[in-house]
Amino acid sequence: MDQVFAPWRIEWVEREDRNEDVDGCVFCALPDREEARESRVVAASEHAFVLLNNYPYNPGHVMVIPRQHTGDYRDLDDAVLLDHARLKQRTFDALETALSPDGFNAGLNLGRSAGGSIGDHLHTHVVPRWAATPTSCR
Ligand SMILES: [Zn+2]
Repeated sequence: MDQVFAPWRIEWVEREDRNEDVDGCVFCALPDREEARESRVVAASEHAFVLLNNYPYNPGHVMVIPRQHTGDYRDLDDAVLLDHARLKQRTFDALETALSPDGFNAGLNLGRSAGGSIGDHLHTHVVPRWAATPTSCR
């Protein structure tokens, strides 16, 4: 097995958890904070918001999160589903403008066996992808 050293991720590995003062669900608490932007909330709509990922796979890795606290996608009503989908569209637009990726991965990890770390509050990962790794990241 090859070992990969990714020095650009060390600040994320070594950082203190900035969310440790949040009681209960972090995804319910963050968008209502006064300093929401410092908590990495970068966009918001009526029923959803966009949060920079604490442990990004790539630059620009964000999560589009419904405000409704549930781990079951089937609980979302039409208004929340549409708002969440439209905010994902705006997220693709913003990331394309800012970072010019060649593509995206976007999806939900539902349940721990699917890789979900926070299982009781849905969140859609949006990860920009590039065809070639920039020279500075090798
Ligand atoms: Zn929640």
